[in-house]
Amino acid sequence: MNEILLKNVYARGKRCDILVLGNIISKIADSIDAPAAEVIDCSRMAAIPGFINMHTHAAMTMTRSAKEDTPLMPWLQHIWKIEAQIDEEILYWGNKLACLEMIKTGTTCYNDMYWGVGIAARACDEMGIRGVHSYCMLDNGDMVKAEKERRALVRAWEESQSFSSLNIFSVSVHAPYTVCEQNMRWANEFAREHDLLLHIHLSETEQEIIDSQNKWGCSPVEYCERLGMLSDRMIAAHSLWLSPHDIELMGKYGVTAVHNVNSNLKISSGYKFPMEELIAAGANVTLGTDGCGSSNNLDMLEALKTAALLQKAWRKNPAAIPLDTLLKIGSENAAKAIGLNAGKIEEGKLADIVLIDMNNVWFTPNYDFEANLVYSANSSCVDTVICDGRIVMRGRKVEGEQEILDNAAACGERLMSRIL
Ligand SMILES: [Zn+2]
Repeated sequence: MNEILLKNVYARGKRCDILVLGNIISKIADSIDAPAAEVIDCSRMAAIPGFINMHTHAAMTMTRSAKEDTPLMPWLQHIWKIEAQIDEEILYWGNKLACLEMIKTGTTCYNDMYWGVGIAARACDEMGIRGVHSYCMLDNGDMVKAEKERRALVRAWEESQSFSSLNIFSVSVHAPYTVCEQNMRWANEFAREHDLLLHIHLSETEQEIIDSQNKWGCSPVEYCERLGMLSDRMIAAHSLWLSPHDIELMGKYGVTAVHNVNSNLKISSGYKFPMEELIAAGANVTLGTDGCGSSNNLDMLEALKTAALLQKAWRKNPAAIPLDTLLKIGSENAAKAIGLNAGKIEEGKLADIVLIDMNNVWFTPNYDFEANLVYSANSSCVDTVICDGRIVMRGRKVEGEQEILDNAAACGERLMSRIL
């Protein structure tokens, strides 16, 4: 059995030893002696739970920096043009590149919305991190396409039956405005029947709210309630433009909201994410990066900082979103949403651990580790990543890193040559 002993590591406010046995945090104590274990001297390190990125489109690493400083619709049209040219090989290296970036920035699990779940799961297996993979239904109201999408989702679900324990399958509907009512209901029923998460883009832009009122006479959240879709299995990406009634509904049904702060800022969707209000209503609040087409990176530490700064700024309250709440949003709340026994450095939890190097300017002096982590440091402080009890990065080195960079760069060139 795998045995890793983290010696003299800073965790949960003090120095301790942490023993990983198999894929579990087996023991945390002042001092542990385990002769068979692989010992890591952590006297300059801190242990935190791996971040969980609750909304992304991993393979969109291949659209990174493809179209900048462009209004939303022309930008989207360009991205769709690129995506139409993504073949299986590009998809594979795009996923590998995403996993590499997530490891480098301390993320051990991500909730994905894309296509090619088998390829994405293979990338996770090879890289050693966890992924929640979904087939994203999108029909634009075309009934022939809607039928095809249902069949494609069932095929993806069948494929997921052979997934390893690192991978979870979920159901995705792109958004209420891109998926017909019949498929919204069908997807919800499928998720309920097979006990799967239901991932959706919800209330992302002001225009979406206006269109929803015109089309259904209610908000997108109210529309989802009408279709019986709101529940604690729903992962609602963005959840940005919410009325007090929407917030009440999301709390009542225990919906998980995902704040995609950098993406929302960059494509000018808005910035007043109702974080405190959602938490107070009983909704589960988490954080995501969105895809690299809009957020450009998959860096959860950067997203945490931006999210906190924004909340403090528009609320005109420096005490808004204290650090312990913020860090829960980055991992613990997400683990709860997925039903993953992780998100905390605690005995009995899955060993998804990130070791932070504190021997640098960002942690000096270190009066408040969490403050230094979020507000001072950047993800270059992520030194070592353990996922499912296995070391996937040590001393910032990931096996096969150069091969991934070379292949992803070549795929990017091939992709762009098909566009221009
Ligand atoms: Zn998205």
